[in-house]
Amino acid sequence: MDSQALYRDIGRFFAQHGLWPTPQNYALVYQVLVDGQSPAAQAVKAATSDGVRLTQREADQIMDTHGVATAAAPPRQDAASAALISATRRQVEEFTAIVEASQAQAKSYGEDLAAGARQLEESGDADQVATLIGITRAMVERTQQAEQQLDAARSEAENLRTRLAEVSEEARSDPLTHLPNRRAFEERYALLQQERIEVSLAICDVDKFKRINDTYGHGVGDRVLRSVAGLLRECCDGHMVARLGGEEFVVLFERMEPGQAAAILDEARETLAEKKFRLRENDAPIGQVTFSAGVARGSHPLGTPALQRADELLYIAKNEGRNRVCVEPA
Ligand code: GH3
Ligand code: MG
Ligand code: MG
Repeated sequence: MDSQALYRDIGRFFAQHGLWPTPQNYALVYQVLVDGQSPAAQAVKAATSDGVRLTQREADQIMDTHGVATAAAPPRQDAASAALISATRRQVEEFTAIVEASQAQAKSYGEDLAAGARQLEESGDADQVATLIGITRAMVERTQQAEQQLDAARSEAENLRTRLAEVSEEARSDPLTHLPNRRAFEERYALLQQERIEVSLAICDVDKFKRINDTYGHGVGDRVLRSVAGLLRECCDGHMVARLGGEEFVVLFERMEPGQAAAILDEARETLAEKKFRLRENDAPIGQVTFSAGVARGSHPLGTPALQRADELLYIAKNEGRNRVCVEPA
């Protein structure tokens, strides 16, 4: 559910139940819509079954009993992840319950069967045979039921796993350029640092990008950003290119000296500078689009964080006239 849809549904809930949108009520309704299985949501469901309206008193009671946090709502991504995680947890509980029930039943039928077999041995009674057949049938039936339940639970688990993977992918990707975002970059960088793998870091910043937005509009600006993103990805194939934010990108060159990384980036810079951007409507040229970059060594003996060092070098590149790559001295 996107934020607009959630907001609309919360509003609809207030209208339906004649509730005032106080922060307290808001927190409750948010919980109802985002995590329908939570105790508070279940209590609301119970109170409103048969289409009965939720009164303010009931809402207050539920809040008192279940203590829904009224802290700031988590961002959409976290809310979605939280709901998925809680659904997954419930699923595991369901699995466990099914398995435990099956084990208990199998044990109890097993005991009944053993007792029946003993009696049969002693008496040779036809009634005992019938009883044993009955017990066996019932056991087979129960086992089949348990299998069906497990199948259903397994396929729900599969859906949850897929959705969880999607949400985690969304949380690490930039929606405009589809590049990994800053978070994904930071995670990767931390991992490489941990493994003591040598890296070089480059920050690329589009030159005078504001002019493109101001002259041609945000839509054209967005298109240029997507294009720069694609070009960087192509030119730096095999290395992580992420969007840091705005018109800034970071490239993580693994197992590479800054000099070598700068040479790759310089080619990308030249390719971009030669590219002819045109407006879609009338084919009019937009003018040259360029970027400047700072390339730093991944780890710094002096302790300056690498991203900060790359930013300093970028600043030098800007000051020296833009459309250039400034690299850390070897
Ligand atoms: P410089 O050469 O010094 O980097 O100049 P600049 O104009 O590129 O830098 P400045 O930081 O002044 O402007 C960056 C602009 O980028 C301002 C902001 O509106 C724009 N911007 C940031 N994110 C986006 C986006 O997602 N889409 C578009 N179209 N513009 C964006
Ligand atoms: Mg910038
Ligand atoms: Mg810029």
